[in-house]
Amino acid sequence: MSYQAIARKYRPETFDQVVGQTHVTGTLRAAMARDKLSHAYLFSGPRGCGKTTVARLLAKAINCQTNREGDPCGVCDTCTAIAKGSYLDVLEIDAASNTGVDNIRELRDMAQYSPSEGSSRVFIIDEVHMLSKGAFNALLKILEEPPNRVFFFFATTEPNKIPRTILSRCQRFDFRLLTRDELGGRMQDIAKSEGVTLDETGLRLLVSLAEGSVRDGLSLLDQVIAGCEGTITEETVVSAFGLVRSQLFVELNEAIIAKDAARALRLVESLSSTGQSLDAFARGVVSNFRNLMLLKIDPELAKMVDLPPEQIEQLGTQAVNFSEQDLLALIDRAGQHFERIHRSTQPRIMLEASLVEYCRFESRILLSDLAHRLEALSGNRAPDGGGGGGRFAAPAPVAPNSSANGNGMQARTASASSPMSASAQTAAPRAAAPRPAAVVKPAPMAGRAAGETVPGWTQLIDNLMAIKPAVAACLMEGLPSLNLDEGRLTVAFEQDKQFKVKMVEGQISAVEEAASKQFGCSVKVELVLGSQGQVREVKEEIRKKVAPTTLEELTKACAKDPALEKLVETLDGKPLHEEDRDNWK
Ligand SMILES: [Zn+2]
Repeated sequence: MSYQAIARKYRPETFDQVVGQTHVTGTLRAAMARDKLSHAYLFSGPRGCGKTTVARLLAKAINCQTNREGDPCGVCDTCTAIAKGSYLDVLEIDAASNTGVDNIRELRDMAQYSPSEGSSRVFIIDEVHMLSKGAFNALLKILEEPPNRVFFFFATTEPNKIPRTILSRCQRFDFRLLTRDELGGRMQDIAKSEGVTLDETGLRLLVSLAEGSVRDGLSLLDQVIAGCEGTITEETVVSAFGLVRSQLFVELNEAIIAKDAARALRLVESLSSTGQSLDAFARGVVSNFRNLMLLKIDPELAKMVDLPPEQIEQLGTQAVNFSEQDLLALIDRAGQHFERIHRSTQPRIMLEASLVEYCRFESRILLSDLAHRLEALSGNRAPDGGGGGGRFAAPAPVAPNSSANGNGMQARTASASSPMSASAQTAAPRAAAPRPAAVVKPAPMAGRAAGETVPGWTQLIDNLMAIKPAVAACLMEGLPSLNLDEGRLTVAFEQDKQFKVKMVEGQISAVEEAASKQFGCSVKVELVLGSQGQVREVKEEIRKKVAPTTLEELTKACAKDPALEKLVETLDGKPLHEEDRDNWK
């Protein structure tokens, strides 16, 4: 037996076999069974979801010699002739290539004669919206007084282009795209009948490629069955269509989050060397950002993401690193890039450039917006906040040597609202997005006094920034420790920061004046140089304490500190990943 395309071989023979359009087929079969058919039907809906299939079924049902409760028998001479397209009274016209008035006049003349063999004459006009104005007028004349036993079935993807006069003379049925389950079920059934194992990964990919269209789905299945050896997996589908493995997008996201352009570029190399389609990859990038956005907005939306559960989980984790604004902007850019890559004669270069752009992407938390929100926050500060230390501080003043979470953590968390917001950290005026003060009592540097905080330190830096920006910038590199009883502020610097120490020393009286004002008593400032190792060790410890790495830690910290909670909420703050800590200095 010669090869038969799957779509043809498994074409529905009864209304029941039409998948996903029961709202149409049920009504039509009932009308058919009760002999209540209208003269003209309009079937509208997306391509490949069964409009002409249903039109043909109906044509068969009307003419079938042994019609069974509205369904055609599918085996009588008439049914088989219609299926083969050799039945003279059922005429299929493609309006896309027969748009003229003459075509319709011809049709009108035919309609005047009695059907030659069967009982009724059926005209199926596909893409009917393509008819010219004249043709529509000619058609209207027939529809106004339809001859007995003449039926018109129109199919269209664009019902809005059909004149109202025509529409009003048709019974209209809207076809819809198939759900994933419907399409998947149909494909799985067919694969079984063909003796092919279609595994879950392969099925999921095929279904997502078909985008709800049965015709596309079956044609894809056809191609992949032809090339497979008994089993269809994601790998089979990927290689059959030159697609891209979805795991690659998880890797791309990692590169973007790490701002690692080299890693992203290596992905392009691997695509190229394994013959995967650059075009498909560029298209996939758009979907990938869309998936991240869905998961960012609500993890419940995972059901709209067409990926294996483990990848959805990975994406969900990655989504935390982006803000909604980031993702909207990325979707927009990726869409434009795809167009460009698609048209380009040098798609690889275009793709590479786009990936570098994503890795260099700067967070869409606008700096002005950030400053605004910070301002709003500082407005909520308790009046005595001056003693509380900085615009991020808890409203209540904290004892200088208390080990509560101090401004260090809070400022840190603000900047860490998303690793994508690195620009906010580097480009923001320091006063607007203060660098977190690493706060520690430096004297027993090796003695693990980490975590002790200096409330007011950030505010002090802020104030100094306004009058002596260079000094403030140097001072903030140090680790402060405050002893109010002795009226002493000690700031420790790493060994290699000698220049900064000198700079601060040169203006020490201005620093002391600002400090005295800030802490409400006379304060002497002491600058000390520690060994690099010591300082770093202490810094690291503070970091761990003041900047939570997990959501759980952050939640705990928020529960203890309402000001922090408010800040995290306002700025959509997220914990910084361990591996990003070193980049954040
Ligand atoms: Zn029949």
